[in-house]
Amino acid sequence: MGKINLLDIETVNKIAAGEVVERPASAIKELIENAIDAGATKITVEIKNGGISYMRVTDNGSGIASDDIEKAFLPHSTSKIKSIDDLQSLYTMGFRGEALASIASVSNVSIITKTKDEMYGTAMNLEGGKIVSKQETGCPDGTTITVNNLFYNTPARLNFLKRDATEASHISEVVSRMIIGNPSISIRYISSGREVLFSPGNGNLKDAYASVYGRELAYSCAEINYNYNGIKVTGLAGLPFSARANRNMQDFFVNGRWVRSKTITHAGEQAYRTMLMVGKFPILFINVQLTPGKTDVNVHPSKLEIKFTDENAIHSAVFWAVQNAILNSEKIKDVDAPPKKTEEKSDFNVKSTLKKEEYSSPKKEVTEEIFNDELINVFKKKEQKEFEQGSFVTNNTFREDFVPMPENVENKEEIVFEEEKDENNFEVKGQIFDTYIIVQKDDKMLLIDQHAVHERMNYNKIVKNLSVNSQVLMIPENIIFSGKEKNLIFENSDVFYDMGFEIEDFGTSVIVRRIPDNIDVGDIKNTMLEISDIVSQGGDPEMIYDKARFTVACKSAIKANHKLSETEMYELANSAINDENIRTCPHGRPVVISLSKKFIEKEFKRIV
Ligand code: ADP
Ligand code: MG
Repeated sequence: MGKINLLDIETVNKIAAGEVVERPASAIKELIENAIDAGATKITVEIKNGGISYMRVTDNGSGIASDDIEKAFLPHSTSKIKSIDDLQSLYTMGFRGEALASIASVSNVSIITKTKDEMYGTAMNLEGGKIVSKQETGCPDGTTITVNNLFYNTPARLNFLKRDATEASHISEVVSRMIIGNPSISIRYISSGREVLFSPGNGNLKDAYASVYGRELAYSCAEINYNYNGIKVTGLAGLPFSARANRNMQDFFVNGRWVRSKTITHAGEQAYRTMLMVGKFPILFINVQLTPGKTDVNVHPSKLEIKFTDENAIHSAVFWAVQNAILNSEKIKDVDAPPKKTEEKSDFNVKSTLKKEEYSSPKKEVTEEIFNDELINVFKKKEQKEFEQGSFVTNNTFREDFVPMPENVENKEEIVFEEEKDENNFEVKGQIFDTYIIVQKDDKMLLIDQHAVHERMNYNKIVKNLSVNSQVLMIPENIIFSGKEKNLIFENSDVFYDMGFEIEDFGTSVIVRRIPDNIDVGDIKNTMLEISDIVSQGGDPEMIYDKARFTVACKSAIKANHKLSETEMYELANSAINDENIRTCPHGRPVVISLSKKFIEKEFKRIV
């Protein structure tokens, strides 16, 4: 007798289910994705026992028509594609038509759903994938799917599950990603009767992020907003000093779908390159939006690993997007309010006391009355400021003309130097520790880091010019390098030339005839070694050049512990305050710190 059996359809489904539904969190992910695909703007996720005994996802999306419901639970049934060609224009999260069939085959499912065209909705119950009842019911538009006793008929899988708390934390992770990937959808997550997560769904990235990671973190990030050859990159980038010891705070999305991508990870981290210490990883949340034909989402069973048709274009888009965001971030660091210690919960309170319109347009004046009494605390002013600042990122022209995009190279001649604005809107009061300039401006005291501001000025100048100004040395310097160092320098003499050096091989040493402006003779060797170090690390030529510019900008900047003249102080302060293109030093550190008069008076207890 032969040994080969043909498996019955139920067994086939159960095996297939193992691929789609590995654990409760994967079922939740599929159910939320279906809700998003159905155009929902509000989704509620409820679970008990880590989702094993009970999970329910409610949405206000399109609903399923009564005569389609049975089909929705058949394997390979989908309303999203008809043939493989449709993948080219697919914007939905799902398309395999496997999820509902798989989930239903390993649990007891009940669905209540209604389209807006139907008078009544439909309620249907399934046990292990078999329909046990179906009837008309009164219900709102949208869909509620309840899954009871997941894996009740596949004991091996049930045994594989971890403690309830572990499964619940996997679900939290899935819901968190859904929230930050879909800031226009309000998502509520309730575990064992307790609200764990809630996002307002107002379309504001920072608010979506805040509902998962807290306001303080969300609002300390720089906003990414960038377009590059039809690739739109949005998201949030942590400033260099907030970098973490691992990549847990990095999430990448392509067209709203959470993905893994080496290209995005690498490009995002490259944007921080010299700004981070080894072993530190930036906080990064990046959403790449592009035409679906440009991605291949069909490569991995759980659809996480993504491939792009043009990985290089994505790399460049993400790199420039993140770099601009960091450089564009908050110009003046405000130290008025102490770090916020309130719990996330109270953040929600603040939000919920704001009317929706006020909340979603951060520029509008947020008046005192909007906050109720119990919330008036020391942080109020800060909150208000954050709301006002929430949308500052995109409204300047810095981004486009600052970036040394390859296209700009041709236009070199057309770049005109803008006269620095002198609004004379401040008074220089002096210098402290030979390092910081003190300025009074309006009702604020500003502290300016002389090195940081000058470094940024130099860097901007170099980038704008696409060349480094240099000076001929009256007496050429003769510098000794090791054989290896020397070889590296001469192999890359064009980089040195472009950075303003004129060098000549002199046997055992190097003769330096010309150096970048403002570099001390004593710094020449160091600067050259740093540049050859950058070159030897290799990589994209544009990035090598940019790193070299960082080095030259830094070395040619006025140092800390250096006494300044009145004129120097004035010029540095004027740039720090009035030059829109100066936000942080090229390493991402702040340039200006501000203390308000009110804050100072509060500290001296003149006012309360
Ligand atoms: P896929 O999402 O890959 O199409 P699923 O098995 O997840 O496959 O769902 C099958 C079909 O059921 C979907 O194509 C959609 O038409 C319908 N559907 C599932 N969930 C919902 C929902 N929450 N709202 C509206 N329609 C839904
Ligand atoms: Mg689906």
